[in-house]
Amino acid sequence: MSSIHLLPEHLVNQIAAGEVVERPASVVKELLENSLDANARHVDVTLVHGGVKLIRVADDGSGIARDDLGLALARHATSKIGSLEDLEAVTTMGFRGEALASIASVARVALRSRRHDARHGSEVRAEGSVVSAPEPAALAPGTSVDVEDLYFNTPARRKFLKTEATEFGHSEEAMRRVALARPDVGFTLVHNGRTQIHLAAGTQQARIAAVLGDEFVAASRVVDAVAGTLRLTGLAALPAFSRASRDSQYFFVNGRFVRDKLLAHAAREAYADILHGSRHPAYALLLEIDPRGVDVNVHPSKIEVRFRDSRAVHQFVYHALARTLAANAGAAGIAGTSAAAMIGVRPSYRDDGRPALQGSLGIAQPQAAYYAMFAAQTAPNAWDTPQAASDPDPGSAGEAGTMRGADAPPLGFALAQLHGVYILAQNATGLVLVDMHAAHERIVYEKLKDGLDAHRIATQALLIPVTFAATRLEVATTEENRDTLAELGFDIAVLSPAALAVRALPSLLAAGEARDLARSVLAEIAEFGATRVLTERRNELLGTMACHAAVRANRSLTLTEMNALLREMEETERSGQCNHGRPTWHQLSLIDLDKLFMRGR
Ligand code: ADP
Ligand code: MG
Repeated sequence: MSSIHLLPEHLVNQIAAGEVVERPASVVKELLENSLDANARHVDVTLVHGGVKLIRVADDGSGIARDDLGLALARHATSKIGSLEDLEAVTTMGFRGEALASIASVARVALRSRRHDARHGSEVRAEGSVVSAPEPAALAPGTSVDVEDLYFNTPARRKFLKTEATEFGHSEEAMRRVALARPDVGFTLVHNGRTQIHLAAGTQQARIAAVLGDEFVAASRVVDAVAGTLRLTGLAALPAFSRASRDSQYFFVNGRFVRDKLLAHAAREAYADILHGSRHPAYALLLEIDPRGVDVNVHPSKIEVRFRDSRAVHQFVYHALARTLAANAGAAGIAGTSAAAMIGVRPSYRDDGRPALQGSLGIAQPQAAYYAMFAAQTAPNAWDTPQAASDPDPGSAGEAGTMRGADAPPLGFALAQLHGVYILAQNATGLVLVDMHAAHERIVYEKLKDGLDAHRIATQALLIPVTFAATRLEVATTEENRDTLAELGFDIAVLSPAALAVRALPSLLAAGEARDLARSVLAEIAEFGATRVLTERRNELLGTMACHAAVRANRSLTLTEMNALLREMEETERSGQCNHGRPTWHQLSLIDLDKLFMRGR
């Protein structure tokens, strides 16, 4: 090994580019954001060969002065912040000053610009580490950036590029996200000479309709809620909405598209009370928050954020959404007043956004080891088998005598089902309340995890494959990730450039909706790549899969089925919390109950 030395600047930029410039779509995103920061009213994006040959982004924004053109391409050069105070209250999309430098280190870049007060424009070109001197250029006021031959000098990265269709699909999605956040700006997207997106500036609703479709808008309710410095606007689809095309879950924080667990969780919770069939809510929601209350400098691509008061944000989003949905859902009479809400056991959040160990009644949750002492007698499949209803019932009154015995099951025996959501059971300590969806989800999740660890997720071929209309990106993702899909237990066939067929599923999930399930797995792979999905994002993926399969609220269960679930919970490790961090069950001891009634004992 040689002695320590500073890396050449060009190499530093290429290393940074690894994080910022993952694929053509990341270039599109960064350039679009620069145009918005320059107050553009209209932005045109032109791509050739999925953006690998050419990405051109032209805007009518403020422009860059001739003498600043070279600086714009330098690392850590930005016009957007100048101090730590600025950083903490940043309102622009960019501020790190590294996008253009990173892009220029892995592609040939031409930057042309003209300020509105300038008589003509200027241009600089960058190739490798060499930036040319500014030369006169003819263009209207605004800025135009050409990025050609992406990764021409980094063949290792070039190898990671997918097919033209996949790369184009990602760029299209990047533009859709920006366009949803900024209805006041017009956009066009042209690929290989054909116009693919044309969006005129207009209202938020018109933009959402243009991007997500009229059907989505027709099935949605307007969200508009304010609390202190927080505001949530946008559209949330009622549960009846189901559409043959792509998943629609868009969350924006101060105009920035984010994939945030806390927000997604709040939304899922808000839908949980009314979502009978599909576990796939659709929404486009924009959260506005004082920029001091959110840290966007968590990740170079800024897709993740951190809230200062995450608990308040979660509560606000949950209530704003639940109220909107409940007010309009009609039939969903119990929305927002579930038993859990009434006895105050909604999970609370710590400031880092992770659920706090909860239990406002102060009851400890039994340990997995404790469960393990009790060998479950139930057949593992009783839960999924409808015939189980006619089996002799192990939890009927005759068992009450063994309730305090050494082999009494810790979660006791089921008494009844409440509102199609909760199971009430009696154990030695008192009353056990089980959220049946959350509990089943946890069981499926743990089984999937074990299956994947052992490289054998059991699959089940479908008698009749489930065919559905798919996006270009979904089709391309399927074609390119056969091995990953097989590892996860899926067999998906490409029927045409716009149709897929699910032929086999993980057996554990066979009761779920094949189309939605396949679609959300493909979305994860497209967003994060097969490698990350199988490594660092593995648990998220399995959580999503489990959620699709788990028993829905409002399904009535027999006592036998309920007891089978209780026994499986005892067998399953960590079943006290479902994989979104929600608790799956609660113990109310006789002492707790007595206290409720002020009954001295
Ligand atoms: P950042 O956006 O983080 O400041 P970039 O590398 O993306 O960093 O851009 C560097 C600088 O170049 C910006 O701060 C801005 O001053 C200028 N710039 C880039 N694109 C444009 C544009 N389309 N219009 C006007 N100025 C731009
Ligand atoms: Mg930028």
